[in-house]
Amino acid sequence: MNAANAMPPLLELRGISKRFSSRLDFAARLAARLGAGGRAQTVHAVDGVDLSISSGEVVGLAGESGCGKSTLGRIVARVLEPTEGERRWKGRAYAEYDAPASRSERLAVQMVFQDPFASLNPRMRIVDLIGEAPVVHGLVSPGERDDYVAEIMQRVGLDATLARRFPHQFSGGQRSRIGIARALAVKPRFLVCDEAVAALDVSIQAQVLNLFIRLREEFGLTYLFISHDLGVVRHLSDRVVIMYLGRVVESAGADEVFVRPNHPYTQALLAEIPRLEATKRTYIPIRGEIPSPLDPPRGCHFHPRCPHSTPRCQAEAPRLREIAPGHLSACHLNDSP
Ligand code: SF4
Repeated sequence: MNAANAMPPLLELRGISKRFSSRLDFAARLAARLGAGGRAQTVHAVDGVDLSISSGEVVGLAGESGCGKSTLGRIVARVLEPTEGERRWKGRAYAEYDAPASRSERLAVQMVFQDPFASLNPRMRIVDLIGEAPVVHGLVSPGERDDYVAEIMQRVGLDATLARRFPHQFSGGQRSRIGIARALAVKPRFLVCDEAVAALDVSIQAQVLNLFIRLREEFGLTYLFISHDLGVVRHLSDRVVIMYLGRVVESAGADEVFVRPNHPYTQALLAEIPRLEATKRTYIPIRGEIPSPLDPPRGCHFHPRCPHSTPRCQAEAPRLREIAPGHLSACHLNDSP
């Protein structure tokens, strides 16, 4: 094994699951006491996900709305805690970085949110929005803040003379850049980008995607790029991971997934691309009843919609296995007879 292979992945997820339980309202609690049902419902948002991402890699995480990709991104970025499983950074558990001395490692994973307008405090000026965290975390002194913010604004293509304006005085594309600048301000190594260009017009999308590509080179960044738009994912990613109802069903290099999709769900998703591009890149779910994450099927989650489903698919969950070098798929069709 050479030195490069001996390096642990930059980020590793092992058996990550996340379940959400609904709170019972008064009527439901009363019904439960009287023995008339009223049980809390549990959503299985993420179900046993393993994922490794190497330094400098861009991994696109794709799937239908509600498949758990945003929840997984929030777990990576520490916005949510997993119900089960382990997160590792540079080969060590996240918890090992909780000490104050490990602050820079804790800041190394940052998130760029889906709706920059909702994530920016409308009462704060841009200089404060971008400059607050680096000052609080001691990365720059209060006296250096304005110059530091001006430099970051320029790096993301914003005019630094606008630093004293408020978020509503910027266009959608500029607010996206402000969200990226905020994340970059704490010197991260890893960005979780959750539908970061979904709200933008196509021409502005292209500009922001090119900005992500440039920043990756300039700052040596690693990305987990979450998107329902397979065109965006293909444009940016080295590797593509497809999720369905909380599980990873396929993972491979970007070209491999688009040229030789293995999993029936991936094939169904790709079959929708011409329709997506012909319209205004608005997502149209693939046909058929989508099982609820409240009560996912027992075996393969895709079996109610899969044209190749067999009785085994209903009883037994397929394991993610390597079907070609670097190409993983979770489907019983890949099992040798
Ligand atoms: Fe279809 Fe069965 Fe494969 Fe699931 S395991 S994708 S139901 S063939």
